[in-house]
Amino acid sequence: MRVGILGAGQLARMIALAGYPLGVDFIFLDPSADACANNFGEHLYGDYSDPSLLAELAERADVVTYEFENVPAEVADFLASHTQVHPAPKALAVAQDRLLEKTFFHDIGIPTPAYAAVDSLESLEQAMSTIGWPAILKSRTLGYDGKGQSLLKSADDLKPAWEQLAGVPAVVEAFVPFEREVSIIAARNVSGAIVFYPLSENLHRGGILRISECCDNDPMQEQAESYISRLMEALDYVGVLALELFQVDGKLIANEFAPRVHNSGHWTIEGAETSQFENHLRAILDLPLGATAPVGKAAMVNFIGGLPVTEKLLAIPRAHLHLYDKTPRKGRKVAHATVRAENAEQLATLINQLATLADQVDDS
Ligand code: AMP
Repeated sequence: MRVGILGAGQLARMIALAGYPLGVDFIFLDPSADACANNFGEHLYGDYSDPSLLAELAERADVVTYEFENVPAEVADFLASHTQVHPAPKALAVAQDRLLEKTFFHDIGIPTPAYAAVDSLESLEQAMSTIGWPAILKSRTLGYDGKGQSLLKSADDLKPAWEQLAGVPAVVEAFVPFEREVSIIAARNVSGAIVFYPLSENLHRGGILRISECCDNDPMQEQAESYISRLMEALDYVGVLALELFQVDGKLIANEFAPRVHNSGHWTIEGAETSQFENHLRAILDLPLGATAPVGKAAMVNFIGGLPVTEKLLAIPRAHLHLYDKTPRKGRKVAHATVRAENAEQLATLINQLATLADQVDDS
């Protein structure tokens, strides 16, 4: 069985690592010659919209999936007309446009921050009378890790924020004074079976995820499961999906979803019975889904902009290192580490030790 992946970054690399024990092999399409999954399968090197490479991928892969959501819609449509593509192109189209995404949440009854579409400075000024202060202006497309976003605290911020977007269509949304950020990850297979992971509690700095911690038996689990299953059913979704949520006043509000494996689920590699990467493959190959129960208390710490010193990291008992084989660059995720502990206190100590190492090399 051969799985084709659009993109050959660290997510593709970790999917491949989970696939080999299942007898799956891989073919990647990626425009970067030194993409970090290169050595984990065959690499079709070139542009995502190169028709001959897409035809080759469709021909040679039994099923195609992707590791990021900004694949041009026509590429996903072309592939879907030639081979199996999971998740379906509709999920990509919704996830890559913040306005479509929020409207979709709204239509299926998943709460979001108050939002409005904005396509001029006047429409932004008008929208602020209903959204209220503070608010966040976000580009509709191509935004990730806080890119293309501005915080709006007063009327003086509107003009510079709008100019920074250089005229691209945007959404403005109410700033949520959240108690915490969580995400839920679930997998749905071709036959429609769904499994849910325990919630991850996520710590961001500068819009980038730093730490995720598994929250077993969390009081918000049921609400999160009901939202993500509603979303998956409405999209007839196949694969792993991550739904990012804010918790405020004891309720969950959707921020965004990722139609793919997700950074906040990396703790599942050593911290759950079955990792999100293996369950993504099981889902798209219509295999029975694996158990998602956590194995002890689990967490993950990202390394951003700089590599950890391997010997120092591995000297932390229970730490597992995952290097992505990427050249460090400002703000770039280059590795993560997971830990499993026997109790909350031990987990907090281990997270602190890892976070200290991450902060020493962090340049963001
Ligand atoms: P995003 O790219 O939309 O996931 O935003 C990156 C991060 O910015 C989120 O993880 C939050 O920490 C923060 N953020 C985004 N939108 C809001 C909001 N409406 N209210 C408060 N914080 C937000």
